[in-house]
Amino acid sequence: MSRKFLLSGAIALAVAAAPLVAGTATAATAAAGQAAAVTTVYYSTSGAPTFRAAINAGAANWNRSVTNVNLVEHSSGASLRYVEGNDPRGSYAQSDGHGTGTVFIDYAQAEKYDNTRIAAHETGHVLGLPDHYSGPCSELMSGGGPGPSCTNANPNAQERSRVNSLWANGFRTLGAGGPQQRIYETLPVLTH
Ligand SMILES: [Zn+2]
Repeated sequence: MSRKFLLSGAIALAVAAAPLVAGTATAATAAAGQAAAVTTVYYSTSGAPTFRAAINAGAANWNRSVTNVNLVEHSSGASLRYVEGNDPRGSYAQSDGHGTGTVFIDYAQAEKYDNTRIAAHETGHVLGLPDHYSGPCSELMSGGGPGPSCTNANPNAQERSRVNSLWANGFRTLGAGGPQQRIYETLPVLTH
């Protein structure tokens, strides 16, 4: 009698344990997949104190918009640095298009254009997107094209999709760590 009871208990335990093990394995796989997909890019705002709030707001917009890359402010060891100053050629992003480089925010442009849009747009270059000045205000990479009244600082669906695709393999994507290119915001309307 006691033996039968033990056996029943063992079967009950096995049945109870089965879904638990399966559930744990699924959760672990999902966690591992997520960890592999998200790449963190550390950035520093210490060289652009005037625009720190705008830079962080722009980064937050990106973080809400994409799943494969996450921007985190971190003063030491940052691969992306924001700086500010005066340059007659305007703001620029100098980067490898994959999280490493420098974003320069020009005072004159910042007086005229929405600062969060400028920061988010330049960050878009560092994440791998090119300029598209002829696009509408809803497009972040249209930059100064739609004029100073455009304050949209969020990427549209196509831009989100493009960045997720570019970061699908984290830092391993072709081009990471390659030569840096400087992209100036020299659209005529920007300097009028
Ligand atoms: Zn640009």
